[in-house]
Amino acid sequence: MLIGQDITIVGAGIGGLAAAIALARRGANVRVLERANALQEVGAGIQISPNGMAVLVALGVDFGLIPRSVIGKKVSLLDGRTGRLALSLDLNAIKTPHPWLFAHRADLLDCLTAAARDAGVVIETGVPVAAVDLVDGGVDLEFWDNTNLTTRVVIGADGVHSVARQAVDRVSKPRFTGQVAWRALVPGDGTAAPEARVYMGSGRHLVTYPLRGGHLTNIVAVQERQAWTEDGWHHQDDPNNLRHAFKDFGPEVRDLLDQVDETHLWGLFRHAVAPNWHKGPVTLVGDAVHPTLPFMAQGACMALEDAWALAASMSLHNTPEMAFAAYQASRRARCVKIVAAANTNARAYHFGNVLRPLAHTAMRMSQAIAPNAPLRRLAWLYEYDVTRAMG
Ligand SMILES: Cc1cc2nc3c(=O)[nH]c(=O)nc-3n(C[C@H](O)[C@H](O)[C@H](O)COP(=O)(O)OP(=O)(O)OC[C@H]3O[C@@H](n4cnc5c(N)ncnc54)[C@H](O)[C@@H]3O)c2cc1C
Repeated sequence: MLIGQDITIVGAGIGGLAAAIALARRGANVRVLERANALQEVGAGIQISPNGMAVLVALGVDFGLIPRSVIGKKVSLLDGRTGRLALSLDLNAIKTPHPWLFAHRADLLDCLTAAARDAGVVIETGVPVAAVDLVDGGVDLEFWDNTNLTTRVVIGADGVHSVARQAVDRVSKPRFTGQVAWRALVPGDGTAAPEARVYMGSGRHLVTYPLRGGHLTNIVAVQERQAWTEDGWHHQDDPNNLRHAFKDFGPEVRDLLDQVDETHLWGLFRHAVAPNWHKGPVTLVGDAVHPTLPFMAQGACMALEDAWALAASMSLHNTPEMAFAAYQASRRARCVKIVAAANTNARAYHFGNVLRPLAHTAMRMSQAIAPNAPLRRLAWLYEYDVTRAMG
């Protein structure tokens, strides 16, 4: 049913662009409306685990991206203050043909944009959608300059503060999670091990991994906070605030933070996974429908899986309503499980000074007995290939 069908996607982030490519490749006429004036991502890294890579491979985006990225081999969990190793995950133990990638977000977006244009997708920037309303025979998109567009099918890929979600689900409202995240990049000398390191402390953790052949190091630092009182969802912050928040961490972390000369701070907002992902000819993908804490590095991977599952469902079913119901049925339980796993990590990463040594001792003991058991328990997550499951 996709051949020749007109589809409008709101949002040219990872989910919106991936959906655009997948739908256009199956014959749809796809138009993407993006509020930003240019297609650009924050200067920061992103981990794409094999379940997300399966989609990038199927979309043919891996060829351009892998040479610009680092293939991750290990994830290490450490005590932030002492630097002592609690757990080491050998990513080769994941049974999949796809790599675990440490990529620059700008590189991922570049590759997705190029593939979308190759597939014939029309991308319009500087077009902020103000409202999405169901009307007889289609969907009305209202813009901030008071103009309107009536279209037949709309996919909301406009992130956690989605306006498209209002047409589908008025229940799920984003709220502050009590966590903020700094992101920063510092130069690397090209010799860093292909490893993500998670330094854990009381109410905080900090993740590092190399990008672009190790010539950059990505830093994500999360801290618990009572409230988010800023205007907007993120802003440029003073690097001294980041250094101050992690001043009692070990020298490895402090040395890295000393090199930060620019950082941005995000308030982390989310809502429960939406009960309804579609209404009439409107559906949602990615953070618009299931925002998650970034503690499993799965938000973008889920958006990629959604994109594929949605295109596969739309090519099988005769009406958008039937296709969207099948899409939600294929995705919701998995996304609920992933979001819950990220919430569990939020607690485990931020144990206080009493519980943390006990928890880390337990991790070391269990790893000594069964080294790959923690990853085997996550086989349902990382070894899933939506392109094989949905066709
Ligand atoms: C600190 C941090 C680290 C993370 N690390 C990882 C990781 O390592 N791996 C991973 O898989 N995930 C990670 N994530 C999560 C990941 O970034 C998100 O889940 C992912 O970007 C969601 O993609 P999306 O396309 O659904 O939404 P978004 O990336 O939010 O894109 C939405 C797009 O819609 C546009 N838009 C919004 N409103 C409108 C409108 N009204 N009209 C038109 N356009 C609009 C926006 O400008 C944007 O381009 C992390 C998140 C954070 C905060």
